[in-house]
Amino acid sequence: MRRLLRIFAPSSRLDMLRKFLLFCSLVVAWNIVWSWYISGQAQRVLANLVFDALAVGGPFVAIFVLGSWHQVSAIDALKVRARIDPLSGVYNRQTFFSRLRRITQSSKTGMLLLIDADHFKRINDQYGHAVGDRCIEAIGHRLNWHLRNTDLAGRVGGEEFGVFLADVNRAHGLAVAARLGQPVSFSDAEKITHLSVSLSIGAVWTDPKASAEDQLVLADNALYEAKSSGRGRLVIHGENGSVPLSKVDASTYAEHRADDRRTPSRLGQT
Ligand code: GH3
Ligand code: MG
Ligand code: MG
Repeated sequence: MRRLLRIFAPSSRLDMLRKFLLFCSLVVAWNIVWSWYISGQAQRVLANLVFDALAVGGPFVAIFVLGSWHQVSAIDALKVRARIDPLSGVYNRQTFFSRLRRITQSSKTGMLLLIDADHFKRINDQYGHAVGDRCIEAIGHRLNWHLRNTDLAGRVGGEEFGVFLADVNRAHGLAVAARLGQPVSFSDAEKITHLSVSLSIGAVWTDPKASAEDQLVLADNALYEAKSSGRGRLVIHGENGSVPLSKVDASTYAEHRADDRRTPSRLGQT
């Protein structure tokens, strides 16, 4: 039944025109059947029947099509809201994980990063939750600004973000990680207090044979190491030592985003 209703509901402006013409034809056909075969007015001229049907039924068809198109647009907007975290503007946790799983299954390799704001709780405690929210917004904005359409970004926890950089080599991945991991500046709503927060990153070079869950565990362990070795650092699973993010070279691969502009509504279409 739902499927049948879907067939009748317009899905785009062009489809709206198509459905309008289809419903008008049905109204005309029904008027002909009714007049000629049911109510016994076989003498009525076809052109008159078509005109009557369109004059009476047309406006109702138009109202129906406009109403259902409005509904389809509302459903589309809800679908976007179900995928995107409203505060940061990147994917929410569920969508990020399901897309990451899909990418992993498609054997794509790359670099998986878990990025977490350092001592974020202190900001909430000292300046209030609303200022903390502005920090989360700023991190989301950073990710949207620096990443390509083929990358994947999501908010996986309160002040923790996941990023997957598809098909990057070592220098490329490190440059992007360094750019994403620079301290984030933000302010309160009145722009009186200006603050900055450092970020820590745990990363793993993904293995197409391992599951998304396993790789997330490895990235999480690396993030834990980055935190315990002083914060503001990058730790890559399987590599020795943690590197201060300020010392990682971010200058190479300047074209990482410029060659593939990212728009919030097309996040991570991999
Ligand atoms: P660490 O450097 O070890 O990561 O310490 P931290 O303080 O950043 O981490 P911790 O896990 O102790 O605290 C995270 C805080 O984030 C606690 C929680 O209240 C806050 N938080 C979670 N979600 C939101 C949110 O949506 N908005 C705001 N403002 N705060 C949030
Ligand atoms: Mg934190
Ligand atoms: Mg955290």
